[in-house]
Amino acid sequence: MRFIFLLLLPLFLCSPVKAQEDLPQDYFSSPLEIPLILSGTFAELRSNHFHSGLDIKTHQKTGLNVLASAEGYVSRIKVSHFGYGKALYIQHPNGYTTVYAHLKKFSPAIQAYIRKVQYAKESYEVEVFPNANELPVTQNELIAYSGNSGGSGGPHLHFEIRDAAASPMNPLDFGFKIEDNSHPLIEGVFVYPQGENSHVNQNNNRQKLRVIPLGNGNYITENFEAYGTLGFGVSTVDRLDFAPNKNGVYQIKTSVNGNKLMQIDFKKFSFSESRYINRFIDYAYYKNERNRVQKLFKEDNNPLSIITTYGEKGFVNVQDSLDYNYTIEVKDFKGNTSTIKVPIISKTFSLEEITPKKIDSTAYFAKAGQAIAFDEDGFDIYIPKGALYEDAYLDIQKDGEGIKVHHDSTPLHKNMTIGFDVSNYTVKDREQLYVARMTDWGAAYYVDTYKKNNRFSVSTKTFGKYELKQDSVGPKITPINFREKRWMSSENELIFKIEDELTNIGGYRATINGKFILMEYDYKTDRLVYYFEDDIIKETENKLKLIVLDNVGNSTTFEGTFFRKN
Ligand SMILES: [Zn+2]
Repeated sequence: MRFIFLLLLPLFLCSPVKAQEDLPQDYFSSPLEIPLILSGTFAELRSNHFHSGLDIKTHQKTGLNVLASAEGYVSRIKVSHFGYGKALYIQHPNGYTTVYAHLKKFSPAIQAYIRKVQYAKESYEVEVFPNANELPVTQNELIAYSGNSGGSGGPHLHFEIRDAAASPMNPLDFGFKIEDNSHPLIEGVFVYPQGENSHVNQNNNRQKLRVIPLGNGNYITENFEAYGTLGFGVSTVDRLDFAPNKNGVYQIKTSVNGNKLMQIDFKKFSFSESRYINRFIDYAYYKNERNRVQKLFKEDNNPLSIITTYGEKGFVNVQDSLDYNYTIEVKDFKGNTSTIKVPIISKTFSLEEITPKKIDSTAYFAKAGQAIAFDEDGFDIYIPKGALYEDAYLDIQKDGEGIKVHHDSTPLHKNMTIGFDVSNYTVKDREQLYVARMTDWGAAYYVDTYKKNNRFSVSTKTFGKYELKQDSVGPKITPINFREKRWMSSENELIFKIEDELTNIGGYRATINGKFILMEYDYKTDRLVYYFEDDIIKETENKLKLIVLDNVGNSTTFEGTFFRKN
C-alpha cells in the first residue's frame, strides 16, 4: 500500500491541472433532453442565501422529462408546500448527490412509492430516505417531470450537485456545456472609508463612483481624492446567451499596484454559511435600492469560505503622496472578463474638513458579541449573541398598537424573540389573536405565533414593526370543477381554490365517503387538487368532505355529493 502511494504521489504533483479538472468531467449528464439554458447560476446572490444550484429553463412549461444525471439510487424524497416543493435526491457511487427540485410529479415507480407514504401519514408534506436497494436508477432513466412546485417563480428545473459533505458545488465545474459570449456587466463601484479619519472626496460615508466603460469589458472609474483605509464594493451580474436573466459571476479578484488583495470564487459553499450573504453584500443599500453590492473586503463576523484575502483583508491603505491603482477583475464561468481600473489620488484633510458618518444614537446600544434583552411595557425583546454582525444603536419604541423593533435595513443572522403581554385579552379572544409583521405601507403579515399563558411570542430574523392582530374569519373554499350532484367520470382531478386573507392556510383534510384522500396544495395559485388516479373511489355516489384551517385555527367545511363511474 505504502509503495503504491509513493509511486502515485509524484505523478499527481507533476500534472499541472486546475482545481475544476480534478472533478469528474463526464460523469454527470444533463438532467433534461433539451439544450441547457440557465435562468440561474450557482452561488448567485439571492434573498438571504447563495443559490445552491443551476436553474435550467424548461421552455416556460412544466412536464418535461427529468432524467437521472448518473447511476445511483433515490436516497431522499421531500414534498413540501414551500422551498423545493417536490424534490428528489440521488446518491451516486462516487460520493456525490444530485438534487432535482420544483418537480411537477415523480416517475410512476417513485410516485407510487411516495403516494404510499403520503396515504400512510395522511399528509401531502412528507420526507423519506429510501434504502439503496429500494429505488435504484440508471443514468438517463426517467425519474420525474419538471414543474413549478414550492417556492418557484416560474417553470424550471433546479439542479444541484452536492459533495460527500453535502456542500453544494458549481455544476458547471463538472463539464456541462453552456453558451456565454458576453462579459460580466458592471453596474456600480462603491468605496467604504473605514474609521473616522479616512475619506473619499472629503466624505467618510459610502461613495458611489462613476464608472466609465472603455469597451471590450474594460472600465475606469472617475478620478477621486482619498486617504486612509478604504474598502471597495462592486455591483455586477452576468448575462448568458439565449436568456435575459441577470445571473451570478464565477470569480472576482482585486489587486492594488499589481499586488493581490482578494479573491472570491463561486465554486462551492456550505449551507451553514449561506446566510452570511447578508454580511457579504451591503445589506442596507440592497434594502433601499434593490441592488446587491458585493463588498470586496472581509469584515469581522464574515466566515464565508468563498473569500480568500491576502494580507489586508481586501482593504487598501492610502497614505500620503503615493499613487494607487486599484483593480477589480470579474469573470464568468466561460472566462469572459471585465476589468475595472480605479485610480486613487492621495490627499489628506483635517477631520473638520471631512463629512462624518451619520450615526443615529438611541438608548438601546447592542453589541454583536453579546446577547441583549429589553423590556418595554407590554413587550419583551431578546437578541442572542451573534445575531447582529456589528454593534448598533437600535431604534426600539412603542408604535400605536405595536412595537417598532429597529428597521429591516439592518440584517439579523439569528432569530430574535419578541414577546407580547396578552393578559388584557380574554382566554376566548386569545384563540384568534396572532402576531403580525407590519410593513411601512400598513400591510400585516402573519408570523408563526407561539402562545403560552399571558405571553405570545414570535421568533424572527427581520427587524421592523410587530403588532397583535385578530383573525375571526375562516378560510374561503371555492369549488373549481365541482358542482353538487355532478357526474365527474370524465374529470382527472377534483379542484378547489382555498384562501385565507389574514393568517394563510394552516391545514386541510379531505375525505370521500369517510376515507382520506390526498390533496396537493399550491400556495402560489391557491389550488387544492385531488387526482382521481389515486384510485380511492369505489362507489358511484360519493360524499366529499373538505375541512380547511387557517393559522389561528378558524375552520371552514365544504360538503357535497358527486357521481363517478369506475
Ligand atoms: Zn434554483
